[in-house]
Amino acid sequence: TKKIAIIGAGVAGIAAAIRLRTKGHDVEVFEANDYLGGKLSLLEQDGYRFDAGPSLFTMPELVEELFALAGRNIDDYFHYQRLTEGCRYFYEDGTRIVTPTSAQDFAQEIAKQTGEPAANITSFLKRSANYYGLVGELFLYKSMHKTSTFLNWKAAKAIAQLPALGIFKTMHEANATHFRNPKVVQLFDRFATYNGSSPYQTPALLNMIPHLEHNKGAFLPKGGMYAITESLSRLAKDLGVKFHLKSRVEKILTQQGRTVGLKVNGQELPFEAVVSNMDMVATYRKLLAHEPAPEKLLSQPKSSSALIFYWGINKQFEQLGLHNILFSRDYATEFDHIFKLKTIYADPTVYINITSKHEPSHAPEGAENWFVMINVPNNIGQEWDTLIAQARRDIVRKINRTLKTDIEKLIVTEAMLEPRTIESRTSSVKGALYGNSSNNRYAAFLRHANFSAKIKHLYFCGGSVHPGGGVPLALLSARIMAELLEERER
Ligand code: FAD
Repeated sequence: TKKIAIIGAGVAGIAAAIRLRTKGHDVEVFEANDYLGGKLSLLEQDGYRFDAGPSLFTMPELVEELFALAGRNIDDYFHYQRLTEGCRYFYEDGTRIVTPTSAQDFAQEIAKQTGEPAANITSFLKRSANYYGLVGELFLYKSMHKTSTFLNWKAAKAIAQLPALGIFKTMHEANATHFRNPKVVQLFDRFATYNGSSPYQTPALLNMIPHLEHNKGAFLPKGGMYAITESLSRLAKDLGVKFHLKSRVEKILTQQGRTVGLKVNGQELPFEAVVSNMDMVATYRKLLAHEPAPEKLLSQPKSSSALIFYWGINKQFEQLGLHNILFSRDYATEFDHIFKLKTIYADPTVYINITSKHEPSHAPEGAENWFVMINVPNNIGQEWDTLIAQARRDIVRKINRTLKTDIEKLIVTEAMLEPRTIESRTSSVKGALYGNSSNNRYAAFLRHANFSAKIKHLYFCGGSVHPGGGVPLALLSARIMAELLEERER
């Protein structure tokens, strides 16, 4: 048994705490905020309830696994349902696609609305599954920083096939070659945004992402996404994990290349091992300024950020479902604005998430809770107030055009999250949602390891390290980290 500290109670920090506690360690979690969950948190305002961050739930088995590990009955904590409808896509020319999640129906429906042969969609999803089977397991479930990961036939086979798998093409090039209809290309290009990247830069191998949603399935926790934070933190507490809120870690204490504890609220506390769930770059810059840092990794371009309006809407819209995408007319120009010009495009793709479609208690009767998000560049000190005011007008105009309504009149309450507040609330460098972007091959596959190669007893989990951002990968980072810690601290 070791005395272990975890910095940050994001979903990965909570999952890490559960895993280490089930191994018998004495675990304390230090969280800077006065709430748990980091990006996966809750906002309540004027009778409306919003999931503050993530809205799409895939790979629920990674949540289930934590209850199984702890020997607890998941039914006492967490419920979720499989969704039969995926996204509703709206194009400016009036095309609408309401996508079923099942691969077969999904292909049929896209074919019906766009004329793209259904066989092209089916073959794409097959390839997506193939990528995932061959490479996903290798990259997502194992440490990339251990030779044993590569010393087996499966790994050798995956690596040998990398060139043929399209690692040298971009996602957009691969999609534009595969599909005839530009609307279908755009629909599949959007999956690059699931880890904050551009389809025009990210490797085609990331076309494994649609496999998760359309082959493995899309889900919704009962009570909304925040139920993940709520149930996992309750499990952790039941197991004896101690959470300290309003406890910002100021420094990771080291002695001769070893971690010996933390400085929190001016106090030095001894620990035998430390796990950082804080953004990896911020961990080095703020907590380890006295130690050398892996500069090449730290200087990789960051993922996109987001601008979110949480709107209480005093009306219900039948045209909308749980997940809705109002596509930009010109995707290439939109991504140029996000990643090259570092500004907000005048015709952004607007995502609207409405959990009250499934959870009526999330909005007053006859109303809806709209989470309205666009992808925006990460924070390099832009004139955000001006950009946001303009973007809000553009978003309202786009929604009005699409739904033939005057949405401004229906907004009865409003809150906002933007790159600066994402950064200040979670210490995510530049307000990036997913740490380093995957806009080049290096950054896509070589993220920071789940342990420090230089400082003993120091570990990492969370969306900014291996295997990547998003709730499922953050959960996997905790799993890989905990396995490594067991091996290395034995
Ligand atoms: P975080 O949630 O960032 O948690 C880190 C925690 O560390 C925070 O609580 C922070 O306060 C704490 N901390 C930082 N520094 C210190 C310190 N010095 N001392 C103490 N505590 C500290 N993912 C999906 O899978 N699907 C989606 O649909 C999706 N949509 C998203 C939409 C938005 C608007 C956002 C913001 C994110 C979205 N994501 C989505 C990404 C997903 O939310 C993250 O990848 C995931 O929640 C990251 O979890 P984490 O534990 O790594 O980090």
